[in-house]
Amino acid sequence: MNLPFWLQIGPKDFSIDAPEGQRMLASFTIKAPEIASAAGGLNQAQNSPVTRFRKPVEYIAARQHQHPPKYQTADGWAALFGGALDFSPPIMQTRVARGLIASGEIGELTPVACVTEIGRGYAIEMYSGLMRLVYSAARALTGTDSGQFRGGELTPALSAPEAAAKVAELFTNYKEQKIATAQAFPVTQDQQGWANIIAVHAETFFLMHELAHIYNEHSFRLWRILGKKLDVLELEIQADSTASRWLIDYLLNPKPGSAQRQMFYAGAEFGLRVRMAMETVGMRFEKTHPTAGDRIAALRAKLRATAGSRTFYAIANTSLAFDQLWRAIEQMLLRRPPVFELTLDDVLSSMRTLVAELLRGGDINDVIAIRQVAGQQGQTQVVLAPKEPRKIAMMNSARDYMSRVRQDIRKSAREHASDVYEPGTIEFSMLLALLNSVQP
Ligand SMILES: [Zn+2]
Repeated sequence: MNLPFWLQIGPKDFSIDAPEGQRMLASFTIKAPEIASAAGGLNQAQNSPVTRFRKPVEYIAARQHQHPPKYQTADGWAALFGGALDFSPPIMQTRVARGLIASGEIGELTPVACVTEIGRGYAIEMYSGLMRLVYSAARALTGTDSGQFRGGELTPALSAPEAAAKVAELFTNYKEQKIATAQAFPVTQDQQGWANIIAVHAETFFLMHELAHIYNEHSFRLWRILGKKLDVLELEIQADSTASRWLIDYLLNPKPGSAQRQMFYAGAEFGLRVRMAMETVGMRFEKTHPTAGDRIAALRAKLRATAGSRTFYAIANTSLAFDQLWRAIEQMLLRRPPVFELTLDDVLSSMRTLVAELLRGGDINDVIAIRQVAGQQGQTQVVLAPKEPRKIAMMNSARDYMSRVRQDIRKSAREHASDVYEPGTIEFSMLLALLNSVQP
């Protein structure tokens, strides 16, 4: 099959809320998405029900019998897990083929992804509750996309504060009711498609994190033999670091026909942002867990260091565009006024997006003009002078945006334009012109 894997996975229907709320409420605990054995052999304890199972696939079947999956068919799950597996080293694919790793969606509504040691192998579970939460947040967030600059019909869109409020409401309800509720608001097919792609990539990155725990297992096994105490925080950081390395390796060498790298990266950060929002409403994971905010910062720093600054902006652009909204959501969850203050990275990534849109389709001479610099003999400069109404609208929105940026950040953005594009290129000149559209 040549389709990118996320297209093989059906969009989820969140219209029905399972009436399991009451029971969940009573038994609700946040289970750290940990490899239980690493935390000291929790699931290996005597009398633990998992000891009944000798093969991971039997354990998953029993769990699914008890809690049937809500969102993915067997084929859909195989495509999702297969996608995550594709990004991990070949030895992991071999282990799956030999039955040493099995995985599945478990129809429980708590937001969990975890690994359990079963016999000589491992079972990876992702609960329907995690999928629902991620998808619901993605749907509210992509509800802000009006398709304004993509031509064609304008679609109904939530404003940024409306979308932030929707997502904040989702997590607040979530805290109270312990399950993610489906929210009613108009959503177009395009927006639903975007939400699905983001959610699938977030789930893929969660699965890569769980696979990374298994991949790193040999190192903890040695520690266990030596009788040393395992530092769970260290194991988590290692799993993140391993999964991030797999992600970045892919981003820098994408396979044709596979995940689109901006969307994949946006999905990975999105999953961590969902975690962060859960922590903000007070649903903390174990103290030993690094906070989601630290995990995002670490992922970003690693991508920037590995890829270099210009490639970083090319890949992280979509995710940086969501960032501002997430910061507003965090404020709302803390019951503070949502501040939409723009940071240096917001400005650079937003204006980078506009450069790409202005250059898309059509003749460059429809967008720019070369003019003499007044009073400076022989010197020319690139001036943005679009003629097409859609592109004029983009210019106006850039100016409007820049007028909301603090003056010191505007200055800093001009100084950092070369972090985004190479000086001397047309893209660089256009970026600088947009950053200069409001003075000083
Ligand atoms: Zn973990």
